[in-house]
Amino acid sequence: MSHAYAEELKVGLDAVRKASRICRVVQAAITPEVLDKKDNSPVTVADFASQAVVCHAIGEAFPDDPVIAEEDALALHQPENEHFLQEIHRLICDHYRDASHDEIRNWIDRGGAKHFSPRFWTLDPIDGTKGFLRRDQYAISLALIVDGQIQIGILACPNLGTRNQSGDSLFYAVLGQGTFALRLDAESEPRRIHVTELNDPTFARFCESFESSHSSHSESATIAEKLGIKAAPVRMDSQAKYAMVAAGEADVYLRLPAKTGYFEKIWDHAGGVLIVTEAGGTVTDLQGKNLDFSHGHELRENRGIIVTNGPLHTAVLGTAESVAASLK
Ligand code: AMP
Ligand code: MG
Repeated sequence: MSHAYAEELKVGLDAVRKASRICRVVQAAITPEVLDKKDNSPVTVADFASQAVVCHAIGEAFPDDPVIAEEDALALHQPENEHFLQEIHRLICDHYRDASHDEIRNWIDRGGAKHFSPRFWTLDPIDGTKGFLRRDQYAISLALIVDGQIQIGILACPNLGTRNQSGDSLFYAVLGQGTFALRLDAESEPRRIHVTELNDPTFARFCESFESSHSSHSESATIAEKLGIKAAPVRMDSQAKYAMVAAGEADVYLRLPAKTGYFEKIWDHAGGVLIVTEAGGTVTDLQGKNLDFSHGHELRENRGIIVTNGPLHTAVLGTAESVAASLK
């Protein structure tokens, strides 16, 4: 029996694996001296190279599909940034030796769609750039959205294998077909993963952003205290947090607005959301609404994000809502 979206999944997984290899090479070369330069160049070249290979793969296989991705090649048209293009070319040349600088810019700009369409992909070429620079967690996140429904979610978390029990760092889900985890580098059989069945919040393990400017740490501490959660939060960059909940390595992920006026970006969530829901978990905003991926590049109809294993959702959501209301 052939599964729905089998070709899209194959193309997406292959592209994300290629992008991960590139990101690993760049991250391994980050030294304190490189960081001292403070120009963020490692993240810049890896971001662009990752977006170039993924958008190129989607463009070849599905030429009519728009991609809403985080980067655009505008800066790469400026002569003073020529060295970035050379560096990006060096990074992708294992796969695309003959690519011209124009082609590379065009591949990156294939990710420049801004508006909703009946069928589109969304890509974060490096999610968690701050973690990437700290040589910590980051993710490459890709999702296919059809009629506003996430059909495929793919997350590569190149450094997650070192901190979870299985060693897996590539995760994918197809709507109605479950969530699977596998090795990123070696050949391995995909393993079906599930959220935990925990229903007592006092034993919950919760994760949140490393960066308090992305999610309020003080608010999550209040919520945890009210729920009687005993364990300290696991702070982690990127959508790796969704993978932790999907794989049963955490029970809750809280993302509580830290700044007014900020709308979450779709590429920061689409991949992770399906990976959690197909593993049996629940994802809503702070009002209990589903995330709405039909408003271009932003989640304009949602505020805050609550991710749980499912059984804990009502308790966590209720407490989060009451804490958020008391702060207004
Ligand atoms: P994380 O690694 O979970 O902290 O999330 C990283 C993502 O947070 C980045 O890709 C940014 O797009 C996003 N981000 C930037 N500013 C904010 C903000 N004020 N609130 C929430 N997310 C943000
Ligand atoms: Mg991101």
